Amino acid sequence: MSASLVSLVIPVYDEEDNLPELMERCLKVGAALHRDFEIVFVDDGSTDRSAQLIADAVDKHPGHCIGVLLNRNYGQHSAVLAGFAAAHGDIVVTLDADLQNPPEEIPKLLDLMDQGCDAVGGVRKMRRDSVFRVWASRTMNWATYRVTGQHITDYGCMLRAYRRDIVDAILRCEERSAYIPALATAFAGKFREVEVNHAERAAGRSKYRLWSLLNLYFDLLVSTSTAPLRMLSLAGAFMAVGGAMFGLLLLVLRFAYGSEWAAQGVITIFAPLFIFLGAQFIAMGLLGEYIGRISRDVQRRPRYLVSETLDGRSIKASEPRGVPRAGSA
Ligand code: UDP
Ligand code: MG
Repeated sequence: MSASLVSLVIPVYDEEDNLPELMERCLKVGAALHRDFEIVFVDDGSTDRSAQLIADAVDKHPGHCIGVLLNRNYGQHSAVLAGFAAAHGDIVVTLDADLQNPPEEIPKLLDLMDQGCDAVGGVRKMRRDSVFRVWASRTMNWATYRVTGQHITDYGCMLRAYRRDIVDAILRCEERSAYIPALATAFAGKFREVEVNHAERAAGRSKYRLWSLLNLYFDLLVSTSTAPLRMLSLAGAFMAVGGAMFGLLLLVLRFAYGSEWAAQGVITIFAPLFIFLGAQFIAMGLLGEYIGRISRDVQRRPRYLVSETLDGRSIKASEPRGVPRAGSA
């Protein structure tokens, strides 16, 4: 039976208004799957009642609901990784807690998984987000495709399914700035996409501000390839050659028109100077992105700390197992 255990992994950050409906709909979908299922709720350091609601659900549905409570906010992808580590399923499905990914679409993904896919990605049809978000995502999907050649139509859709070995491979990755869908497709032999519905956020507001969004996009771009670095070197080479030719031209003109012309031409030097200065800054910024990640990777800090795992069993088994009690022989 365990061959068909399905785990839903749901990162939760201040979603108290969405959780009751989410839980109800997920449990309903789970029951209709006709296979074993569990739902792993990862509380990403919520400041509202989310953690309490999760604990209640675990009490009410032991065996079906698991709660992983992180001790503070680590971000969506770290929360999903914590959920991966706690999930037992042979197929792991991720989705958002804000009901933007309808749980009713999960069977669609599972159908494809049953056809032998290693990973299935959802593609949001009729995306219901702000114009800015849709535009930013499109640009990012396009840029990532150009850079990596890896075609995923919708990197941002978290309604996805992964086979166990893909999940394990992702968990073995040491990098801190993991972008899960990109990592998964890197490992997946057979990857398929399927159109899924997308709803407006049921309650609350998006947890992504411009800055965290930018962070996420950089994670995606830089974690998928080092091609931007190569492009940088290429651009640098072009600029160097162009600069040298421009210098030569100036020299020739200096001899052709005399020193007076050259003195008047001093101002023109500023133009290429600023171009190069700008280019250098872009280069340094990009290098900084990589170096920042390298330094974080060598620090090898844990990605998150779990303060408690609630699976309905560990509550009773709070005594350390295998340790003889005082007085016993
Ligand atoms: N989330 C999280 N930690 C965070 C930010 C978000 O666990 O620091 C969760 C959030 O609760 C939701 C999912 O990640 O379940 C997606 O977040 P959100 O809906 O805010 O993102 P958007 O849909 O705007 O991309
Ligand atoms: Mg959302």
